[in-house]
Amino acid sequence: MAAKKNEQHPLRIEGYGSAGEGVARLEGQAVFVKGALAGEICQVQLLKVGKSAAWGRVTQVLTPVPGRQSPDCPRYPRCGGCQLRHMTYAEELRFKRQKVQDALQRIGGWTGRVEKIHGAEAPDRYRNKIQFPVADGPRVGFFRARSHEVIDAEDCLLQPLAATRLREAFKLWMERYQVPAYDERVHGGLIRHFYVRVNQRGQSLCAVIANGTDLPHQEELVQALRRAEPDLAGVVLSVNQEKTNVILGKTHRCLWGRDYLEDTLCGLTFRLSVPSFYQVNREQAEVLYGRALAFAGLTGRETVLDLYCGIGTITLVMARQAGRAIGAEVIPAAVEDAKANAARNGVTNAEFLCADAAQAAQTLADRGLRPDVICVDPPRKGLAPAVIDAIVQMAPQRLVYVSCDPATLARDVKRMEEQGYVLQRAEAVDLFPRTAHVETVCLLSKLKY
Ligand code: SAH
Repeated sequence: MAAKKNEQHPLRIEGYGSAGEGVARLEGQAVFVKGALAGEICQVQLLKVGKSAAWGRVTQVLTPVPGRQSPDCPRYPRCGGCQLRHMTYAEELRFKRQKVQDALQRIGGWTGRVEKIHGAEAPDRYRNKIQFPVADGPRVGFFRARSHEVIDAEDCLLQPLAATRLREAFKLWMERYQVPAYDERVHGGLIRHFYVRVNQRGQSLCAVIANGTDLPHQEELVQALRRAEPDLAGVVLSVNQEKTNVILGKTHRCLWGRDYLEDTLCGLTFRLSVPSFYQVNREQAEVLYGRALAFAGLTGRETVLDLYCGIGTITLVMARQAGRAIGAEVIPAAVEDAKANAARNGVTNAEFLCADAAQAAQTLADRGLRPDVICVDPPRKGLAPAVIDAIVQMAPQRLVYVSCDPATLARDVKRMEEQGYVLQRAEAVDLFPRTAHVETVCLLSKLKY
């Protein structure tokens, strides 16, 4: 485009990009404008001009829309945790529904409509797990957006107050005993992250992620955390001595109390170990699993396969309404949790397999398993082609796809459509209010021919 960097232009914002940034047109090309809302006219300074798109920032909102609000957090937008605090929650839900719609349409070639977005009743303090990065100072807080610089944050509107109190006690302990923070540039120092998980009853579990096998003044730390939060269930040391961005270590040692927490979800009780995946928004996870169950259309006789089952949440919810349910998951500790969860809830028609999804699906297909329903809930990268092949081989009538990334979901929907499946229904569920992330649940059915 002929426009140059640093130039200013008044632009009409036509819609949103996938991260919630406004999108305008200049000389027929897209301009991505952070902090601009759909329907506004903004004065935009161009920060970067590429061959087929440009990026800019708002210098003045010329005509604001009712969806705009002043950010309610002093660290917004420096902190990388939230992306949408400059818009009302109603506007956020409009953006998210459109994001899913756009992906399914543009990448997936779908002509249907996202039926609904299930918004959260409480868009603040919903997170049940927080992992605070730690740096020298000590600073205990959050990463600055797109950076590894740690912003010290005494509170966060996404976290429960128990986490606020525990973080404060942890930081004071580091200060008092001069416990060194880890420094990733030189792979030296000790404390990498501080982890807090909270259940519905308000009990919490802490973990210290350290570049070492022991902590100095460990007793004092346990005492300080217990004083800060009388409902503390346990303190765990997670040893991570590797040069990696992965937060948790591979070995966990209980320093005090229990090394897991229990929570109830959809009327079932779940055991949550430190490394096990558990949706961070419990209330909205119930909504999500409820929709997945509805899409599965179970009558009590079906065989259900749940790939990427984690601690068996969806598997057990479905097992109650099916003849038999099988879950597969790659993390051994999560599979152990899943088995224990089946037992503690008296669910006797669920089995679990510890394997990579592609391998698990292929093994089951080779054994002649023909599930009526397959449910998948993969990480952001979506389904590997080998997983899709094995699913097609097992030929389920229905595939319920739970996704945390609309783009990879849409790509996989397209691949499934090439294999004789049709996308019937799609709904969005907002598990991550104030961030640009959105969860989608889809129903695909096998064409009869
Ligand atoms: N359905 C569960 C977990 C979903 S998160 C729930 O809602 O609680 C995705 C899960 O997939 C995680 O537990 C992760 O450990 C697991 N996973 C990631 N890659 C995998 C793979 N290649 N094969 C099997 N499971 C995998």
